[in-house]
Amino acid sequence: MTGQIAIDAKNLGKSYKIGKSKQQVLKNVDFNACHGQVTMIMGPSGSGKSTLIAALSGLMKPDEGEVIALGENLWKKKRGKIDRFRLDHCGFIFQGFNLFPALNATQQVEQVLKYCKVPHGEAKKRAKAVLESVGLGPRLSLRPSEMSGGEKQRVAIARALSKEPSLIFADEPTSALDSVSGQVVIRLLHDAAKARNAAVIVVTHDPRLEAYADRIIHMEDGKILSDHMVDRSSQA
Ligand code: ADP
Ligand code: MG
Repeated sequence: MTGQIAIDAKNLGKSYKIGKSKQQVLKNVDFNACHGQVTMIMGPSGSGKSTLIAALSGLMKPDEGEVIALGENLWKKKRGKIDRFRLDHCGFIFQGFNLFPALNATQQVEQVLKYCKVPHGEAKKRAKAVLESVGLGPRLSLRPSEMSGGEKQRVAIARALSKEPSLIFADEPTSALDSVSGQVVIRLLHDAAKARNAAVIVVTHDPRLEAYADRIIHMEDGKILSDHMVDRSSQA
């Protein structure tokens, strides 16, 4: 249900060793995000945003704390089960698109569905439908080298959405894009939260994207400084 907690993290801590010194990158971070909402994480470079996303999504085990994702204690699971959880429930969108150079748009999406064991015929149909839903209907057979940055990011979003994930993690998804393409990308993520009831967690530097957030969390120096819901009731 919308507004229900999808992911709930308590007391996350993480430090990196650099030579003999230790840098604490996450400091007792409590974080949660809800279904049907876009939760935006903002903060200066180096404040721990990507590390937080990695800890929430099963990519990097924190030194301390726990993550309850869709009701399951993520870091208590065995490695293979964590990978399975990510495959089944998490969609990822990164700044660098992470597309396969040799595959066209349809094949990028089909590839992921294949890992998710969706039969080939259905994968083909779903890939076409999801690419059309992000406005790439006329671009289905193009490879990354033939697409603009905005189009590539839309392929990455289509690929993430094709699995119908409950958790969507986007780490600076618009920072390599011009402002119009950036708006399109964030609107698609916003639509995914509203139409599919996904919990969408977006790291961004771009204050223009705040218009699409339900909640804005500011991080600095490994800590959460502020956390507020965006009130749109007074807006037309
Ligand atoms: P942000 O995404 O907010 O820019 P990060 O989470 O990427 O911040 O990084 C936070 C801090 O942790 C930075 O100072 C960065 O240099 C450091 N860091 C990140 N990953 C590693 C790593 N694998 N090894 C050592 N230090 C790291
Ligand atoms: Mg980062």
